Order: sequence, then C-alpha cells, then structure tokens
Amino acid sequence: MEVDKMPKKLPTVVYKGNAYFMDHRLGEFRTIQPPLEFIPFNSELGREIYQEYVVSSMDEPLVIRCPQCGKILFEGTRRQAKKVIIYCTHCL
Ligand SMILES: [Zn+2]
Repeated sequence: MEVDKMPKKLPTVVYKGNAYFMDHRLGEFRTIQPPLEFIPFNSELGREIYQEYVVSSMDEPLVIRCPQCGKILFEGTRRQAKKVIIYCTHCL
C-alpha cells in the first residue's frame, strides 16, 4: 500500500507563539520555523511544552475503532473520551 510508505506526520504543538514538532522517536521537540532548535522532552522547557500539548490535545478529534472488527466505537474529542468506557458490543 502506497499510504504505508508515507512518513507519519508528526504532531505539532504551539507554545508561547512558537510552533514545534513533537518527535516521540527522538524524544524531543523541534521548532518548525528556523532557527532550528531541539528541545529534549526531559528538560525544563520540554516539560512545559509537553504540558501545553497535553492540554491542547484534549480538544482534538478522536476516533476509536475496534481493533478486531474495525467498527467505529467512538467519535468525539479526547476530553469526551476520558469519561466514557468504550467497548465493542460486536466482539464482546
Ligand atoms: Zn469489534
């Protein structure tokens, strides 16, 4: 499949007016605009940006599918998903 070969788009976060890529593989944030900066997750600034990411990602859309049959079990935001228990009635 052609789609599988495409690099995964990195999540982004905006902190204090600067936009950063969030690279879990390297464990760091990277500035999107030059000058290029690398901020490890495990640094003071890195922890602040991570906190911002957690808060802002709560309102991002989220789709949860059953890993077995692929049926859509939930559509909403991460914030909404926190309060519900999701299971597949088809595969249970
Ligand atoms: Zn299922």
